[in-house]
Amino acid sequence: MPVPAARDIRTRDLDPLALTALQRDQLAGTACARCGSPDVTRPAGYAYVLSRSGRLGRPVKVCDNCPQGG
Ligand SMILES: [Zn+2]
Repeated sequence: MPVPAARDIRTRDLDPLALTALQRDQLAGTACARCGSPDVTRPAGYAYVLSRSGRLGRPVKVCDNCPQGG
C-alpha cells in the first residue's frame, strides 16, 4: 500500500506545538521521515519546524523502502 505523501514530514512546515509522537521520532532521526518505519538507514535532507525566529531545519532519515527525495 503506498504511503500517503501527507505523512512525509518533509512536505510541510511543522507546528512544534502539534507534533505527534511519530513526528517527534522522525525529527529525532529514529523513524523514517516518510513512512515512520524504525529501520532508518539513510540521511534524507531536512524537515522544517516553525519557531519564533523562523523555520528550523532538522536533518531526517529514511528507510530502504522510501525515496531520499521529498
Ligand atoms: Zn520509509
